[in-house]
Amino acid sequence: MHEAFDKLRATPRMPALFVGHGSPMNAIEDNAWSRQWRAIGERLPEPSAILCVSAHWMTRGATLANVDAKPRTIHDFGGFPAELYAQQYPAPGAPEAAAATIDLVRATHVEPDTQWGLDHGAWSVLMHLFPRADVPVFQLSLDLGRSAQAHLDLARELKPLREKGVLIVGSGNLVHNLRALAPGAPPYDWAEAFDAKMTEAIEHRDVQSVADAEKLGAITRLAHPTPEHFLPLLYTLGVADQADELAWFNQGFDLASISMRSLMLS
Ligand code: ZN
Repeated sequence: MHEAFDKLRATPRMPALFVGHGSPMNAIEDNAWSRQWRAIGERLPEPSAILCVSAHWMTRGATLANVDAKPRTIHDFGGFPAELYAQQYPAPGAPEAAAATIDLVRATHVEPDTQWGLDHGAWSVLMHLFPRADVPVFQLSLDLGRSAQAHLDLARELKPLREKGVLIVGSGNLVHNLRALAPGAPPYDWAEAFDAKMTEAIEHRDVQSVADAEKLGAITRLAHPTPEHFLPLLYTLGVADQADELAWFNQGFDLASISMRSLMLS
């Protein structure tokens, strides 16, 4: 029934991460955020593969899993210095783990993809978590045609991958409003309010309230004018349970409207 999945070697359960990635410049800057990513990376067990669900791979009407053996580094941003465009993250792909994921998920049809690669939501963070780029990585796309609940349901089906050495990394931001960016300003009230609501729900392992964030109304629309930076959080929470210990890192805001708050469940 799950042939490709059964082929993966069983391991002790891997942690799951949600990383607030913020500006692409964090890839090459030595700052408070990137230093914390390095510190977390040093503490992580060695995964056999990494599954990254990034805000920056959006599809409609299909969920794709990249099965490339050598995923390309995608520079999916504009107006940044040449140094950032010169960055490569040459990690191998993880076709076996991607095939296992396609095999495992039943609630939705996941299709193999050979076009994508690694977008900056993945590589800007992985450059610090795994600077040697020696752990195989693959991405799963976000089907924006699906509800938050559907994403959570899909995520729950990915949970057994943790027992097969797969480190699941959701990469987005807990608050993300690019139109409201304000360098040097303190976070907006609505940004702090949404961040606090989500933090409280996560502390209580109330994943349903996180998935139902739309019900909070105006603060959710301000915190996420579009859902793509929020949805990766549901993948991290969806593969965890009460047995996981919660650890926060990078708690704080960048540019008043980006929450960098990140978490590890292990
Ligand atoms: Zn982003």
